[in-house]
Amino acid sequence: MSNTRIGIVGYGNLGKGVEAGLKQSSDLELAGIFSRRQPEQLETTSPAYHMDDLLGFKDSIDVLILCGGSQKDIPVQGPELAKTFNTVDTYDNHNEIPVHFAKLDQVARENDTVAVISTGWDPGLFSLNRLIAESILPKGETYTFWGPGLSQGHSDAVRRVAGVKNAVQYTVPKEELVDAVKDKQSIEYNKLDAHKRMVYLVLEEDADESKVRETIKTMPDYFEGYETEIHVIDQETFDKEHAGMPHGGTVMRQGKTTDDHTAIYQFGLDLDSNPEFTAAVAIAYARAAGKLAREKQYGAKTVFDIAPGYLSPKSGAQLRKELL
Ligand code: NDP
Repeated sequence: MSNTRIGIVGYGNLGKGVEAGLKQSSDLELAGIFSRRQPEQLETTSPAYHMDDLLGFKDSIDVLILCGGSQKDIPVQGPELAKTFNTVDTYDNHNEIPVHFAKLDQVARENDTVAVISTGWDPGLFSLNRLIAESILPKGETYTFWGPGLSQGHSDAVRRVAGVKNAVQYTVPKEELVDAVKDKQSIEYNKLDAHKRMVYLVLEEDADESKVRETIKTMPDYFEGYETEIHVIDQETFDKEHAGMPHGGTVMRQGKTTDDHTAIYQFGLDLDSNPEFTAAVAIAYARAAGKLAREKQYGAKTVFDIAPGYLSPKSGAQLRKELL
């Protein structure tokens, strides 16, 4: 069977992750990168084109991986591109997923395309594990702990504080709570108390450090109510120790198999690069989207709707022999 041809839409962190990740799969090939910027503005040696030229690739692309931002890009690009192409996105605005699904499902069914939405790790693999854990252990509680990991949104918010030259923010789960769940104790869980926020920042020369600290700690929606640690460091340390985009986390379910016995279901990720791993998940779902389209299983799909075998380049017979 010929390779599945993949187009990348949007060339930010995620787009670069998909470009790199595709090199690891011999059954998939990169057809081109499409950006709203001019191709010569992108730092890549792969074939790159302006978005305006995308429709011309209708017959030479099997699946588009949409790598734009969830807030502004995907809600616009998703429904538009699903009219012509099979698509995969990593849309992560959890509250809006039902609306996003409904829009794409309608477009995809009307145009005989497949639109796989909200892949990645959360939503994505974490969602899948929450579903499996809850289905297997109906009596119990599921906990999601995020981090340790870099939060792009919170880092941006700190960088905007007057007097801050550079900053990163890591979300860190409270180990004592994670350990208590593993230890089969019952805990009081809410997102706010289960995580703390660690800020590493470089100050401008004339900055008022105590004012910066106060502004960050009391920032509504971002830091207010959280346990927040702020570390002021120099630029050299910042460059050396805070250049990556690590992330990860754990989904845990504490369930009762009978009244006397508890089972702990645990799924964890420890990622050096959040965008590269998110891209890797999207790539596997792009393979699935190609297969679904060939089978004419049109419409929007989430990770809940796609059988695991579709993610693999291996045949069912191979999978049964090697991995079952
Ligand atoms: P970026 O901000 O790096 O890129 C988003 C878009 O912005 C790009 O597609 C690109 O579009 C444009 N862009 C990027 N760099 C530049 C630049 N230098 N100048 C001008 N425009 C630029 O976002 P990420 O790639 O980090 O993340 C994309 C989305 O992935 C996030 O919004 C998030 O929702 C999602 N995500 C999902 C996860 C999950 O588990 N489901 C996990 C992590 C992220 P263009 O090329 O067209 O200009």
